[in-house]
Amino acid sequence: MIVFDLCCAAGEHRFEAWFASSDSFADQQARGLIACPVCGDAEVKKAVMAPRVGAKSNQAVAAPAAPPANAAEPSPELVRKVLAEIAAKQAEMLPQSRWVGRDFAAAARAMHEGRAAEDLIHGQASPEEARDLHDDGIAAMPLLVPIVPPDAAH
Ligand SMILES: [Zn+2]
Repeated sequence: MIVFDLCCAAGEHRFEAWFASSDSFADQQARGLIACPVCGDAEVKKAVMAPRVGAKSNQAVAAPAAPPANAAEPSPELVRKVLAEIAAKQAEMLPQSRWVGRDFAAAARAMHEGRAAEDLIHGQASPEEARDLHDDGIAAMPLLVPIVPPDAAH
């Protein structure tokens, strides 16, 4: 199984999906079987950002359980279901998560390097910041649930 970080064309929403192989992703993509869990857009591509939750670092939103290793190629329904589960899990964790806004990359890095206490945080990061975090092995994953940043709510 391969996890791809995907991104829809309409809203640039990022989400993860599992595929049996790279070919299987290409096939499902070509047939429009992969839809954005946020807006339903079927035009998806691989996202630049590839956040993973590593064993060492779990300060970001936790990784969802992967489907069983012996599963056949996931159907679009399964992919949708898994994504819905991830979104539900994230929605559940958000109340305990601290909004750090634009400081997300710096805060995640500080925790990774032991300069700050481990905490559950969410915030905003540019694609460049997200890529740097990933390159440095710092766990982060895109939120699948829409949130209103507290500092932008008024
Ligand atoms: Zn979308």
